[in-house]
Amino acid sequence: MKIGSLLASGRRTFSFEFYPPKKEEDIPALKSAIAELRGLGPDFVSITLSQKYLPDWNFASISNTLALSGVLKHEFSLEVMAHLTTSIIRDRRTLAETLKLVKILGLENVLALRGDLDPERVEERAFAYASDLVPAVKSGGDFCVGVAAYPEKHPEAPSLAEDVRRLKQKLDAGGEFAITQVFFDNSAFFRFRDAAAAAGIGAPVIPGLMPLTSLRQRDNFVSGQGIAVPPALSAGLEKYAGDKEALFSFGLDYASAQAEELLAAGAPGLHFYTFNRSRATREVFRRVGPSGVRRLV
Ligand code: FAD
Repeated sequence: MKIGSLLASGRRTFSFEFYPPKKEEDIPALKSAIAELRGLGPDFVSITLSQKYLPDWNFASISNTLALSGVLKHEFSLEVMAHLTTSIIRDRRTLAETLKLVKILGLENVLALRGDLDPERVEERAFAYASDLVPAVKSGGDFCVGVAAYPEKHPEAPSLAEDVRRLKQKLDAGGEFAITQVFFDNSAFFRFRDAAAAAGIGAPVIPGLMPLTSLRQRDNFVSGQGIAVPPALSAGLEKYAGDKEALFSFGLDYASAQAEELLAAGAPGLHFYTFNRSRATREVFRRVGPSGVRRLV
């Protein structure tokens, strides 16, 4: 099923993002997260593509993403979107071969990205930006293509307006929907949504959510990425820093309130960054209203 068709039918999608395990020891936790989150009936799951862990072995990165995508599609009967990045898929031949495998696996959805660049490795890429990859994926098969969006602007973009223009370029090139970078301040999402609408963007923009449940996550993941952590969230994380369960619960309350407000304001769905764990996402679902998961669809 194409995600674009689901969204066009007016369905609010909820989805989970996983990454291929870095080490063999990571596999059991991932398997149990998948099994538990599958029970929530997501509309789709997405699988990242990263070279962080295999710097000189790009084909292995692609294989890992596609292998996990195939397992989730066929063993767990989930709708899967594979992430493809220009930072790893650097030439047309690799793209053609990758898309051949995507087709063989029966995947219909692709998230087309530039990918994170390693500043120490300046390399030739056939596709400079995601907007170059989108049409190449579209012409390689009958795929539904999604793209990334940044409510607080992409860190390299000179301004939000310029970044929104670049987002429109990706959508005009064939992107059917966007999923956002994580954010913790809904007003940033609403401002961005208004800017996107004013720029003529009509495609659904799905907010990306990540429950912050530790100070380490805040410090490691968020700092340096231009993602604002509102003072109330930071203060709460610090207040409960000495009590793991209280901190976890505070983070979930915060994320649940964010989810409630986004849905009430008409967000077309929610995309959860799971970090290959299920508990935080499951808890947010439990807390979002008395009727739980079904209220989200
Ligand atoms: P682009 O859309 O190409 O934009 C990159 C920058 O260039 C922006 O600043 C943009 O404003 C600017 N720009 C765009 N077009 C032009 C142009 N023609 N001329 C000049 N400037 C331009 N990374 C991974 O490595 N693997 C993943 O699996 C992955 N999954 C992600 C999933 C989501 C939902 C999100 C939000 C991000 C993900 N990322 C992933 C991170 C992402 O790849 C990085 O943020 C990357 O730096 C930008 O990717 P992009 O596709 O948004 O790039």
